[in-house]
Order: sequence, then structure tokens, then C-alpha cells
Amino acid sequence: MPPRTTRLSRRGLLVGGAAATALTVTPQAAAAPGGTGPGTSRTDKGTVVHLLGTAGGPPPYGERMGIASAVTVGGDTYLVDCGRGAVTQYLRAGLSMPSLKGIFLTHLHADHIVDYFNFPLLCAGVMPLQPGFSGTVRVWGPGPSDTVTEGPVTPGEPAPGIIETTRRANATFAASTNAFVTEGFGIDPVSVLNVAELSARPGTVITLLETATMKVTATRVPHGNMSPSYAYRFDTADGSVVFSGDTSRSDDLIALARGCDLRRCHVG
Ligand SMILES: [Zn+2]
Repeated sequence: MPPRTTRLSRRGLLVGGAAATALTVTPQAAAAPGGTGPGTSRTDKGTVVHLLGTAGGPPPYGERMGIASAVTVGGDTYLVDCGRGAVTQYLRAGLSMPSLKGIFLTHLHADHIVDYFNFPLLCAGVMPLQPGFSGTVRVWGPGPSDTVTEGPVTPGEPAPGIIETTRRANATFAASTNAFVTEGFGIDPVSVLNVAELSARPGTVITLLETATMKVTATRVPHGNMSPSYAYRFDTADGSVVFSGDTSRSDDLIALARGCDLRRCHVG
């Protein structure tokens, strides 16, 4: 499925679907002036939400890509989750790699992060064959697991958080990165990232990013033994959008989403 985009507007706000896999985008919004189709470029200003992938759950599907969304504010792009196919869908949506300023990961289930490291890996690995990032890409994600202490991969230890996950992903591709760098046309993928682990207690809202044009806040949400998991709220001059990630009913999420214009909810 090609990526879908919708524009946040105070005059024509959108309805978020709470179904398992998809957000409902009103036809009017999808066809709004300036709406982006696959393969086209966006150069104008404003806030646009891109549904890069809407398939729920880990199983891959031929006709739908894994969970990933992007929010563009002016000329800057922010990803929320990077499920299967996110890199391809990002490009199909006409989003540029140099515009990518941040990645927000709701939790570390594979179907939400499997394409995360592909962004720095593939872009940094081929510079200068194609434009990479214009600067450091900030990454926000969960810290080590606070409930799962037993498992086949890290027995007796908490599962790693996003910082250690990033380090291990980079180590996995050591042969590739070493070869590219020594051949003179690549850089260490982690050198373009600034990774931060969230540390919010349940019931609290933390501010992660605040610029002249937007503010991003987060709160914890319940998702079985995948803890911590987070929901994110973007507030811009054009409107607000909340990404729940996977969650069950949560008063904290309801509070975070109060008054927002668009909700992307996912239960899985
Ligand atoms: Zn999940």
C-alpha cells in the first residue's frame, strides 16, 4: 500500500480510527490542496502526518507495510516507529533524508523498530552516493525493560533499551561498515545519531522536544510485558496529533490525548 498523507488544519480536522491496524483519514483531508501522493515531493510549509505503514502485529503482509508514521513540520521530518518497509515508504512519500530530524520509538517490539537502524545504516553507508542526513538525527525510545527479566536472549537481565539496541545493531553490521569506511565512501552509522532513553514514571508527562514550531511530549502506556512503552503527542501551530503505540486502556493516554486533533491508535 502506498503511504498516505493528511494535513493538519484547524479548519478541517481529522478523525482517528481506534481499530487495530489503521487510521481513518477523511477523503477531504486526503485530497486537500497540497496533499502528497506517492513519489511526489513536499516543499511547502505546514504540518502533515504521513501514514507510512499501518499493518498491525509482527507477521509480514504483502500488501501492507509495518507500523510507521512521519510528521513533517515545515521542512523538518520526525518519524514515529519504523516498522517493516519504513525506509521505502519514507521515500515513496517524497520525504527527504536530509529533512529527517528525529525518530520517536513507542516501544521495542520488532514490528515497530525493524527498519529503525536501516535509516542510518543505509544512508550513512552510501554517502556521498546519495544525500544522507543534514545533521545529527535525534532518537528517543524506551530504556531497558523493567518487567521482563527472563528470556532466551538476555536470561537473567533486563532486555536492552534503545541505546544498547542501537549499539548492537551497529555491531551486527560491522563487516559492512568497516568495508565502506575503509573504502572511503561511508561513515559510522551511529555517528549521525543522538540516542536518548526516556525515563518517565507512570502517570507523568515529559517534554522531549520544544522548538519554535512544535512541542513533543510523552507518557507511558501499558503494553503487557513490553514495559516501558510510550505514547507521543505533537503540538504544532496547525494542530496536534497523538500516537498511542500499542496499548491497552490507559487513563494517562486519555489525558495526553485530551483536546488533540488527530489520534493514531494501535492495539496489538
Ligand atoms: Zn507491541
